[in-house]
Amino acid sequence: MEPKISLPSPVLGAMQQLEAHGFEAFAVGGCVRNSLLGIAVNDWDMTTSARPEEMKRCFAGARVIETGIQHGTLTVLWEGMSLEITTYRNDGIYLDHRRPLSVTFSKDVEEDLKRRDFTVNAMAYHPTRGLVDLFGGAKDLRRRVIACVGDPIARFEEDGLRILRALRFASVLDFSIDPATAVAIHQRRELLKNIAAERIREEFCKLLCGIGAVGILREYADVIGVFLPELEACVDFAQNTKYHCYNVYEHTLHALDQAPRDLLTRLALLLHDVGKPSCYTEDADGGHFYGHAARGREITETVLKRLRFDNDTLRRVTRLVEFHDRPIPLQGGAVKRLMTKMSDEDILRLMEIRRCDRLACAPAHRALSPELEAIPRMVRELREQDACLSLKTLAVGGEDLMALGVPRGKAIGALLQTLLDAVLDDRLPNEREALLCAARKALEQNS
Ligand code: ATP
Ligand code: MG
Repeated sequence: MEPKISLPSPVLGAMQQLEAHGFEAFAVGGCVRNSLLGIAVNDWDMTTSARPEEMKRCFAGARVIETGIQHGTLTVLWEGMSLEITTYRNDGIYLDHRRPLSVTFSKDVEEDLKRRDFTVNAMAYHPTRGLVDLFGGAKDLRRRVIACVGDPIARFEEDGLRILRALRFASVLDFSIDPATAVAIHQRRELLKNIAAERIREEFCKLLCGIGAVGILREYADVIGVFLPELEACVDFAQNTKYHCYNVYEHTLHALDQAPRDLLTRLALLLHDVGKPSCYTEDADGGHFYGHAARGREITETVLKRLRFDNDTLRRVTRLVEFHDRPIPLQGGAVKRLMTKMSDEDILRLMEIRRCDRLACAPAHRALSPELEAIPRMVRELREQDACLSLKTLAVGGEDLMALGVPRGKAIGALLQTLLDAVLDDRLPNEREALLCAARKALEQNS
């Protein structure tokens, strides 16, 4: 039976607008795919026979943004929805494995579908004309398979990013990859070297958060290794310790298998042991990885910078990697000090990472430590008490110490820090009188 997709009213409205001016228009790509799968649609993209200038005339009066006008793409704000509408296109030859030398606009939708990457992404839909499915996209949706439109090798040669996009869609949709496409992915993986880091990052982040991420990372480690060689060094790296039953990469994958689909958590877990291969030592007790968290932090920084992650992600993920196995005593000021280095949200991520890490150890070492519950509870309580964590909320300041006769300059900062340390460690309450008294004592001892 011909599938029916219920198009939102702005999409129908925009179609009618184009048709009223004598053009064709279809919904196309991801929105058709997701609708047929019965899953949420991210954006409703359209394809049309109208050229960009003609589209502008059809949508005179509406807000139109020239998103990629040289490729025929306009973003039209129609009935409150932002629609990406692209002219039927026929990508010319590719010289650099990443973008066509030129694009020519074409007159029929078939041409446009041919240039698209995968069969499941190459379907167009119109409410009366129905589904245009020239490459068996609907069948591949039923088989849950990602397959290239046309010859996989040729399509990857045109645009190397499609290699990673195939892995991304397989992960996100939990599909398998068609054998011929899979062979071409492995064979042509080096084509990813031609692709801008930002584009790699975008696809990789989606892959990492997909439901099938672990299976893809396992099967295509060689492909991931093209842009993350540091991770490939973990593949088959034996740990030789009673704490582990998997090699470093398998351990990482098992840890990821337990993880929520949150990007920061998953990036940190993916990279948490990346420092291990270069820290390996062996003695009579077996293998050791002293210093691997600090080394992992450095490697993580290199990797994330290379993939042009934003500074916030860089700062947070490197810190999670650095702290992933650091002891945090429940007594004393350790939890408070952690709160000065990470947001509460990231402390929860750190606990999540530790939980996943532990569950991926050898069976005899999977018991979860009580800290995983105790630390989040302590953080909540400390927030409720509005506990002092920094000089900003310390009950005395520089002025108070000067009034006691401490000279301006370094001495003030040092004494304030000593007082703060005492408060963080619960050796002193954060109360003005108690702190002034301690300051006086310290001054007497120093004189
Ligand atoms: P999502 O729901 O994640 O946005 P999507 O299918 O819409 O998925 P996009 O990256 O937004 O993915 O691309 C929109 C459509 O454009 C795809 O469905 C595909 O038809 C086509 N496309 C995108 N990138 C390429 C590419 N590199 N080569 C060929 N076709 C592509
Ligand atoms: Mg899209």
